Amino acid sequence: EIPNLSVPEFVLAAGKERPDAPALIDGLKGDVITHGQLAAYVDRVAANLHARGLRKGDVVAVFCPNTPWFPVVFHGIAAAGCVMSPINSLYTPDEIAFQLKDSGAKILITISLFLDRAAAAAEKSPVDEIVVLDGAEGHANLFDLLGADAPSVQVDIDPANDLVTLPYSSGTTGLPKGVMLTHRNLVANVAQCRPLISLGEDERIIAVLPFFHIYGLTVLMNQGLAWGGAVVTLPRFDLEDFLRTIQDHKITRAFVAPPILLAMAKHPVVDKYDLSSLTSILSGAAPLDEQLALAAQSRLRKGAEDGVTVGQGYGMTELSPVSHTTPDPGCEPPGAQTDVPKGSVGYAIPNTECRLIDPGTGEDAAPGASGELWIRGPQVMKGYLNNAEATANTVDSDGWLHTGDVAIVDDEGRYTVVDRVKELIKYKGYQVAPAELEAVLIGHPEIADAAVIGVPDKESGEELPKAFVVRAAGSELSEEAVMEYMAGKVAPHKKVRFVEFIDAVPKSAAGKILRKDLKAR
Ligand code: ATP
Ligand code: MG
Repeated sequence: EIPNLSVPEFVLAAGKERPDAPALIDGLKGDVITHGQLAAYVDRVAANLHARGLRKGDVVAVFCPNTPWFPVVFHGIAAAGCVMSPINSLYTPDEIAFQLKDSGAKILITISLFLDRAAAAAEKSPVDEIVVLDGAEGHANLFDLLGADAPSVQVDIDPANDLVTLPYSSGTTGLPKGVMLTHRNLVANVAQCRPLISLGEDERIIAVLPFFHIYGLTVLMNQGLAWGGAVVTLPRFDLEDFLRTIQDHKITRAFVAPPILLAMAKHPVVDKYDLSSLTSILSGAAPLDEQLALAAQSRLRKGAEDGVTVGQGYGMTELSPVSHTTPDPGCEPPGAQTDVPKGSVGYAIPNTECRLIDPGTGEDAAPGASGELWIRGPQVMKGYLNNAEATANTVDSDGWLHTGDVAIVDDEGRYTVVDRVKELIKYKGYQVAPAELEAVLIGHPEIADAAVIGVPDKESGEELPKAFVVRAAGSELSEEAVMEYMAGKVAPHKKVRFVEFIDAVPKSAAGKILRKDLKAR
């Protein structure tokens, strides 16, 4: 049963029972917003936006790093019946302008550090006003937004139809698309995760992944607040800041992406910190290798049999975003017999139907065989903004969302995501998953990070795997040595044919390898 509530009504409800408990903590500065303050501030932001002339359905763009004020602004926008379109902090003025125009945003909320880019973009867009939270001459600031004189507003929200947010997909495979998500999509997704991820009110979640991505918005922000716990924000990923914040704020849960686990498994500095408060680390947004997950888990457990568990979830912007996760210990679905294997993304969350479709026949794949993952459930988006064609290509007339990812399922209902259909390297009738080769590469002690793409071979017309490799500090590993190592580890058709050493693998703010940047080189 999905509560028929707006996002702020649903997410802020538990906190109303414990108004003095911390809701949001600035991980670097220590500033605290309690649950009681959060609710009061949200009421003020909604009232102020209304006084500024914004009405139900209007889009407000937010271009801010993670701070305790981001959730205040988001829920205020939502309570006003408006739609928050979050903008990637790394975007250039042109990329920002594209999103402002495409979404039709009326107001842009930012911080002084981002004002140059925000102002350049706003000039080329329909935005009427820029609000600079920490203040800039000639602009309204946070205190104006929280202004006490505007009367409170009560907006009638129809959760099943009214949009609450308009995030843009990561643009990993093409131009970013505006994803229309309703109040019900987000409420459903937080509620659906509940039986498998049993967050308590004493929980402290570290929010280092960006709130501007749907993973940060739903899983870190809303899920964290919805059960009365506290969310501790960091504006960007810096390994030592991250570790120190876990130690000093006694963080219990981390929701991360594979690059953070890579650092936790490999970086020498990790051992300097007391991370014993952590009970669970869940990784999402990109493929996580089993060996890497195990290495990180056993290092953090410091040889003990139990302790923190490293697990994985799967999702996409179009799914609000979660469809699968590994369960907390004790939260396994009925009938589950053994632990979820480390490379798996776990079970479908309740109310989520899954199919695996054989790309050759278009029919359901044979038991045990891989196929494109299709999902149906209350978390499936309303559609892409201004793009009926893309919507029709992604969500079919029966409501199935075609994820574009290849997966397999075992006989206990546990899924493993192989890679994106589009990124599989096609070689002599075989399909080679870049993620699999990357996992083998980073298993080498002298390889700090790696990415694989397919490059066309002019003679054979086949695609051949090429590895971009970041050597560990001090390593003098040669190209030949990398190819030899791979040849000893994988079947002949998966052999890496080219190696190029690079300083760092290009990754998005949400932790995805930007293979299209590597292909463009
Ligand atoms: P775009 O659709 O604009 O190209 P994107 O697909 O990267 O960008 P997101 O919605 O942020 O945008 O990411 C969803 C994708 O991330 C999934 O389709 C899948 O490929 C990948 N992904 C998410 N979680 C996992 C996971 N646990 N394992 C493997 N891949 C994952
Ligand atoms: Mg996508």
